[in-house]
Amino acid sequence: MMREIQLHKCAALILLVLIQVNTTASVHWGYDNDGPSRWSKIFPLCGKIRQSPINIVNSKAKVRSRLGNITMIGYDKPITTKIRNNGHTAQVDITSGDVFIKNGGLPGKYKLLQLHFHWGSDNGKGSEHTINGEQFPMELHLVHYLTSAAGVGEALTLPKGLAVIGFMFEISKDDNKEYTNIISALSQITKYSDRDIFSVQLAEFAVGDLLPNNPCHFYRYLGSLTTPSCDEIVVWSVFKEKIKISKRQLDEFRKLMSSEGVNLQNNFRPVQPLNGRVVQANFNVADTEDSSEGKENGRR
Ligand SMILES: [Zn+2]
Repeated sequence: MMREIQLHKCAALILLVLIQVNTTASVHWGYDNDGPSRWSKIFPLCGKIRQSPINIVNSKAKVRSRLGNITMIGYDKPITTKIRNNGHTAQVDITSGDVFIKNGGLPGKYKLLQLHFHWGSDNGKGSEHTINGEQFPMELHLVHYLTSAAGVGEALTLPKGLAVIGFMFEISKDDNKEYTNIISALSQITKYSDRDIFSVQLAEFAVGDLLPNNPCHFYRYLGSLTTPSCDEIVVWSVFKEKIKISKRQLDEFRKLMSSEGVNLQNNFRPVQPLNGRVVQANFNVADTEDSSEGKENGRR
């Protein structure tokens, strides 16, 4: 009898140790002290060969107009969301409302789960993807999961379980009024919290209002989550059309604090090797104003 109790105690202790290790692993990464170059030591998938973000080079992109356009469903309907500071970004979680993407070469229909941002300490950096080596002041990611999966959990185990669409920002003189809702909530989530209770309900808005008018030109490649655990499960669509934002508005993002207790800035992962992957484009990249060839030859 005594021996049995001892064994139970031992099992409980092992369980406690396991829980603690797990908890530590889930939060122990960042962009400063635990910089991206060290992620793969704790999260082995971050060292694999199909990683994101990447540098997109126009002259090397393969034009595939057959991809067609991505169909955005429910992007024009107001939805319910809440925003929180998860220590790595400002994340807007969709709490109700059906927003989907399909077509555009996607292998199925995907449902919007959350959107979040990556930004820099100054306007010369911030985006995760770069185009012809150029980095932008901020990048928006809209994360969707495959609806044919049993749920988000199962989607995270599939090689194309997530479809993320990315948009670059460019600085404008005037504020982008569509972002007032999100930006005015930032002052309430300055501090990081891992508890959902500290999220702030946003006024209803249509996701499409956050995007440029009629976005249709995108680059496509297969990659990964850009944060640990870096799972290689993402069909990426990076759009050519950019979102406008004023410096004053961007500065509000820069006031957030990270899980490491410092200003949450430069929360972007550096670009990763292509390792033979080919980036496709659903538009004629040669017609792009910022095509590297055009610039080099001084044709524009
Ligand atoms: Zn992201």
